[in-house]
Amino acid sequence: MRQYYDIKRKQPKAVLLFRMGDFYETFEEDAHTVSRILGITLTSRNNGKADDIPMAGFPHHSLDSHLPKLIRAGLRVAICEQVEDASESTGSVVDRAVVEVVTPGVSFHEELLNPKQSNFLAGVHFGTGRDSDLVGFSFVDATTGEFAVAEAHIRDLESLIQTVAPSELIVDKRRKGRLEEALRSTPFTVTTQEDWVFGEDFAQETLLDHFGTHSMKGFGVDDMELGLVAAGAVLHYLGETQKGKLPHVQRLQRYSNEEHIALDAQTKRNLELVSTVQDGGRDGTLVDILDQTETPMGGRKLRAWLVRPLRRVDQIHWRLEAVDTLVDDRDLREDLREELSHMGDLERLAGKIATARATPRDLVAVKRSLQRIPNLTELLDQVDSSTLSDVADELTACPAVVQKIDDALVDEPPAKIAEGGLIREGYDEELDELRAIAHDGKAWMSELEAQESERANIPSLKVGFNKVFGYYLEVTNTHKDKVPEDYIRKQTLKNSERYITPELKEMEEKILTAEEKIETLEVRLFQELRDTIAEETGVLQSNAARLAELDVFTALADVAVSHDYVCPDVNDSLSIEAEDGRHPVVEQTLPTGERFIPNDVHLNPDDDQILIITGPNMAGKSVALRQVGLIVLLAQIGSFVPARSASIGVVDRIFTRVGASDNLAAGESTFLVEMNETANILNNATARSLILLDEVGRGTSTFDGLSIAWALVEYLHERPEVAARTLFATHYHELNAMANRLERVRNYRIQVTEHEGEIIFMRKLVPGGADHSYGIEVARMAGLPSPVINRAREILVHLESQDLEVHRDADGQPASGDGVSAKKADADAVPSLEDSRANQMNLFSQPDPVAEELKETLRDVDPDRMTPIEALMKLNELRQLL
Ligand code: ADP
Repeated sequence: MRQYYDIKRKQPKAVLLFRMGDFYETFEEDAHTVSRILGITLTSRNNGKADDIPMAGFPHHSLDSHLPKLIRAGLRVAICEQVEDASESTGSVVDRAVVEVVTPGVSFHEELLNPKQSNFLAGVHFGTGRDSDLVGFSFVDATTGEFAVAEAHIRDLESLIQTVAPSELIVDKRRKGRLEEALRSTPFTVTTQEDWVFGEDFAQETLLDHFGTHSMKGFGVDDMELGLVAAGAVLHYLGETQKGKLPHVQRLQRYSNEEHIALDAQTKRNLELVSTVQDGGRDGTLVDILDQTETPMGGRKLRAWLVRPLRRVDQIHWRLEAVDTLVDDRDLREDLREELSHMGDLERLAGKIATARATPRDLVAVKRSLQRIPNLTELLDQVDSSTLSDVADELTACPAVVQKIDDALVDEPPAKIAEGGLIREGYDEELDELRAIAHDGKAWMSELEAQESERANIPSLKVGFNKVFGYYLEVTNTHKDKVPEDYIRKQTLKNSERYITPELKEMEEKILTAEEKIETLEVRLFQELRDTIAEETGVLQSNAARLAELDVFTALADVAVSHDYVCPDVNDSLSIEAEDGRHPVVEQTLPTGERFIPNDVHLNPDDDQILIITGPNMAGKSVALRQVGLIVLLAQIGSFVPARSASIGVVDRIFTRVGASDNLAAGESTFLVEMNETANILNNATARSLILLDEVGRGTSTFDGLSIAWALVEYLHERPEVAARTLFATHYHELNAMANRLERVRNYRIQVTEHEGEIIFMRKLVPGGADHSYGIEVARMAGLPSPVINRAREILVHLESQDLEVHRDADGQPASGDGVSAKKADADAVPSLEDSRANQMNLFSQPDPVAEELKETLRDVDPDRMTPIEALMKLNELRQLL
């Protein structure tokens, strides 16, 4: 227990799994936790005495099934092993040490990893003083060695974190509150660290030490002071959990948004790129439609591309060229797919080799993958594509590595080293000799069996083996009397007796010694091999990256062909044109029998800057809006797009804002969330941005909402610095009036027609505003009782008969403070309805004087200070006002 406490003290935040023989044991608090989460029995060490120590354990072979449960429950788990052979231990207790700490962000256990997703650990470092608006950010995937650093404005932190989607975040313990504040509603596992881990000198030292360099200049990141602190902290944490084995972390990449579209958190969510709004699942997302990759590393790369589209036209063209070539060449595509389908996850395999976790089967998988590279390069060399030749040039077949693995390991090695029989014959002379001895010994044993059964005249005499007694001769009770005299009885069983002879023991000794040596030798030879291959980590990683690219190109080409996409013309202009564009996900998920209706969109800053799209609920406004966003995004990751033709002037950012009811953020007022997000858009958009606004203002009263929407459009129209291309979907058809006054605002509507009282959604986007919103028809289709529907029709007719006007004064500003004004409604004309109710329903009426007075009086009332009598009197007074 003293040893246990010594080790436990160094792992205060982790649950300690303490290896004792064939079990992992936990004690005290840990035992309670573990027994609760795993549902295993809590026992105690002293069997009921006062100083009982609670204890819970499980057999070592169940680690793989228990570990994921503990990690998913949010625990850190330190695995403490016996690090010397119990039989060779000289002290009173066998040496033990923590060999690994598993956390959500740092794990090599396959059960805890998603092959299609990177598993990042990230660190955040907040700037102070002059830099107090900035954060340093860094992330690393322990399984692949991918390591990157970024610096950002604090308001972009959440979006950065959403893009990277780390499984765990580390932060200076003094800054935990700030981090939580910055992440608002984004839930992440946060692990705090001591403040010195985020010290500038300490971080610098950690990095230089790891990379063996004098500065970070060679990585082109030395200007990111805050970022490097985060990077140092992340590396330190990783080293602590992995006990120093990180040779696969070979470089630190600069992660900046200069070359990428920054997609904010809402946009990623609203466009449902990698998870759906509804349940966060993958079904019905863009990645789900696009992911036709064959390898896990290809799947991870596609996801990474999707959440970080490119901005530079030349880089986009580089990718598009490959996809285009593959679209045209079906044979090539199929051949590539075939080759790729046999590739292992080279990226993670490289990480396992470097961190000495690779099994014999892992090495064979590496060999098989590498062996296919010449086929791939041959295929790629046959085509005329500069991108594909770039990729081919960087693929390396590593024949020496293949040879080494092939020489050393049998073709189908066992899953675990300890099982033995993994090293090929002829690889090591000593091993071959030992194997011959063991083999001969066994042959000798079977000869002995034949010989002895004849000598004793016992046909059923058998040679057997068990771990306790070694080799023995077994005779059933029937033949007991015939046993020769030189047999020495060793063990009596129910139906038989077991004997040994001196010569049997002599041979046993030889066999067992040989087998023991074989085991140690195989382990040593395998480790030597793994270490040699580990020296090639860099090459393996770069191969993995190229294969992943190739896999994504092939997948994108496949999708383009099977869903009939077109190659977009991506350019530096500011216009976006799509003919017969479609929504890539909706078109695949429509119920059978329904056809997706394609739509054209033209956006450019000179005359079609802002499109106001009106139409009733369910008409298809949101789909039309998102479709434009997705087409632009697809083009900028280098994919074909769902349209008949498309010309895309690259965007620097895509913003989306989706109406309140579609997006219920917990805790905060939905309207406030909506306005926060809108503010973010207005503060960050440029003339190169694309803005998709869906029902902005719906979270408040109609009047407020309409006014805000109006002012928003004006702002985007009038300010050159934020004159972004904008699609604005709304059911406020009143906004159509803006097109008459603002030059670059265009009205569109989603067509609906009525047929015998039924409304029919045409789904077609056509120029022109909507004259009415069909809300009542939709309400009827939803099953509202007909008296309500009829009454609503009556009121509507009345309201529409009124002269609604939107005024502007001479200098182009809205005449009234809220931007919209209207003549007072002639409420009396509404048949058999009380004035007050009519006024309430009339959205554009002037304030009612009676209501105003009521409000005034009520405002002065303080119910906390009133007696019941005073309250009754007040009530009476209010009634008199009516
Ligand atoms: P709105 O935003 O106007 O309320 P949505 O955009 O959510 O309406 O569209 C409602 C439904 O109509 C979608 O879920 C989809 O099934 C269908 N839809 C939308 N656009 C199209 C289209 N172009 N072709 C076929 N079906 C469509």
